[in-house]
Parts: sequence; C-alpha cells; structure tokens
Amino acid sequence: MEIITATKKMSDWTRDRQASGKSVALVPTMGYFHDGHLSLMRQAKALADLVVVSLFVNPIQFGPSEDLTRYPRNLDRDMQLAKGCGVDILFVPTLAEIYPELPLTRIAVPSLSDRLCGLSRPGHFDGVCTVVGKLFNIVRPTTAIFGSKDFQQLAVIRRMTSDLNWGVEIVAHPIVRESDGLAMSSRNSYLSVSERATATCLYRAIGRARELVAAGESEVARILAEVKKVLTISEEVCIDYTAVVSAASLESQLQVGCDSLLALAVRVGGTRLIDNAMLMEKSG
Ligand code: AMP
Repeated sequence: MEIITATKKMSDWTRDRQASGKSVALVPTMGYFHDGHLSLMRQAKALADLVVVSLFVNPIQFGPSEDLTRYPRNLDRDMQLAKGCGVDILFVPTLAEIYPELPLTRIAVPSLSDRLCGLSRPGHFDGVCTVVGKLFNIVRPTTAIFGSKDFQQLAVIRRMTSDLNWGVEIVAHPIVRESDGLAMSSRNSYLSVSERATATCLYRAIGRARELVAAGESEVARILAEVKKVLTISEEVCIDYTAVVSAASLESQLQVGCDSLLALAVRVGGTRLIDNAMLMEKSG
C-alpha cells in the first residue's frame, strides 16, 4: 500500500491506472478506522481492480461548536488496518492540499440537506458535498462506497452525483454494528463506560419500532411515541430527532409503507449518535 499526500500525484496515479483499463473504487473517510470502515474497504476491493481510501478530517463540515479539534486520530494504526484490507492507496492530503484557500464555491443539495441532521448541523452537508466533489475530481473513481449508517449523507451524495453528471457509481454499504447492536462509529470512542451501555438504546428503539410494525402497527405517531420511551430510559440521553421518512425522498411519513425508514439522532452525554433502519425489512 502506498501513501499519497499530494493531490496532483493522486490524480496522476488514477489517470495512469485507468489508461490501462483498471477500475478504481474510492472509500472516503475521516479515519480512526473501525470494522465499519474496513468492511467498506473490503467491498471496494470486491467491486473494482484498485482501491483508494481517502483519510481527511474535513473542517468545513464541522459546525463552530462541534468536535473538529478533538476528532479522534491514529494514522499509524489506520495505515496498518487499511493495508490489511488490501487497499492500494491511502490518500492522506494535508489541509493545504485540499483547501489552498478557503473555497468560495460550495455544493449544496438543499431540500435533501435541510431536514433531519441538517436542522441541528446547518451547513454540514454542504461541507460534505464540497469535499466529496473535490475528492471525486482529484481521484476520478469509477465507484465510490458510502455507509448506510449516514443514510442522509448517502441520499445527498447520490443526488449530487446524478445532478452534476459525475459518472461515479455510488454504492451503499449496510450498517456494521457491535455485538450489542450499537452502530460502529469513530465517535463511540468518546463514550464513558456508562454512556456506552446507554447508547444501546438506539438499537433497542429500532427493535421496538420494527416489532410494532411486524405486529401490524402503521401509525407513525404511535410508533415514535414508543421509540421515545425506549430512548429516554436514561437521563444521559437527549433526543435530537426521531423520524419516519421515505428512504428515497427523506420526506416525513404519517403511515408506515414499504419504503419507510426510521431515523434517530440523540446525544448521549456530549456525544451525538445516529442510527437508522428500514421498518419493513426482515433484518437490519
Ligand atoms: P467517517 O470516517 O465516519 O466519515 O465514515 C466514512 C464512511 O464509513 C462513511 O461512508 C460512513 O457512512 C461509513 N461508516 C461509518 N460507520 C459505519 C458503520 N457502522 N457501518 C457502515 N458504514 C459506516
């Protein structure tokens, strides 16, 4: 595995490989790898001839009171883990490589971005789209893999990619969970022992909602009332939102249908956690 830090070198690498007919899959990340990231890398390996993983903590997607400065980092460990997954290039650009100056240009997908996580994180998805757009232009991948844990991010990026004719195939990867159901996240490292135990409420709330739907409940208001009961079992939990939305449009629903997705965002102590699941599928 080679480490590339310069954008020009990264672009040249892909151009040379694609000239000889190789396909390239990109896995964009902010590092501090866990099994969720590694699972995306393995899927990338299965989908393309060559795999590029980008590792860049993107300042413009963090709000002023968010965790940019304390976001967890461990480059040595990340290098070993990526190498073990057969990654060809770990692209670790410096801040100055990605933003020689603060970009005046932003990519925005307003109606998909302004709801759910966008309400408590204004500007977040514009920051994500702008950096992913830049990564697509630098790496020029055939395919890019994103996790369904960040389902709103996935919807926004899919739309951005098709609206702007990027020609990159966007592939969704299922949520990878700890054995007790907590969705893996670099931010789980912030949780204290008691917060870590409390954090399983997200998965338990999903389980409760799916149980109700399986028993014939279709009224979203009643389902969300039960979900909130599970989430607020501990005083450590502060709900940001609970919503049932169409997985395609992200619009809120009043009745559960086959495209219904339960989306949750809570704070456990100081840590913001998200999770989601389709309500009518057999597993997930
Ligand atoms: P991050 O480093 O948190 O920005 O995540 C990089 C990529 O990994 C994004 O596409 C995330 O959606 C994905 N990802 C993070 N955690 C998980 C998880 N538990 N399961 C599946 N994908 C994940």
